[in-house]
Amino acid sequence: MYQHDKMQSGPGSTRAHGSLWRLTVQPAGGVRLGSISGIEITADWSLVLIFFLITFSLATGIFPAWHADWGRGISWVTALAAAALFFASVLVHELSHAFVGRANGVEIRRITLFMFGGMAHMENEPPSWRAELGMAIVGPLTSLVLGFAFLWLGGLLSGPLHFDPANPQATLAALGPAASLLFWLGPVNIGLAFSIWCQDFRSMGDESCAHSCGG
Ligand SMILES: [Zn+2]
Repeated sequence: MYQHDKMQSGPGSTRAHGSLWRLTVQPAGGVRLGSISGIEITADWSLVLIFFLITFSLATGIFPAWHADWGRGISWVTALAAAALFFASVLVHELSHAFVGRANGVEIRRITLFMFGGMAHMENEPPSWRAELGMAIVGPLTSLVLGFAFLWLGGLLSGPLHFDPANPQATLAALGPAASLLFWLGPVNIGLAFSIWCQDFRSMGDESCAHSCGG
């Protein structure tokens, strides 16, 4: 997701396609995590809640269901790593918006990670519809590429898997912690690519997309 900070000032903006989500989904405050290529990375406090929810659901639900033999320690450590990599994936998605934006003359100085994902803050508007289309499309494409890369890496780590349709649980149970994490992260990123596809295109004011998302 990306937005022009000046959208928040309301009447001052001449942007024709400022949709409602830009005005309402606005994180406030947070912790500065560092900077990448001069882009300040900030984590909003709401991130803590969703980080905990993801870690908790993986450590107490998904991983124990996949691996009856895992102890609590390994489930929690793998879950923490998975949640951290999930937010790293969101950051890479936002950076892709930022870098394509920069290549097209849009300055991005700040990325915020928050409960609903991430947001790259534009200092100025994209100069053309081509630039804006490029900026919008690169985010979901990046998530898609990340998703397949994680699945590919998981496949490399796990080696050839014997899949028994009568007992799919046995295939999952054979995965080590790193492969389990990657086989969770892959589909999540692919899902993210499709779910945020609409958000990214709504930022271009595509109302048909907004409707198909139900939002
Ligand atoms: Zn995006």
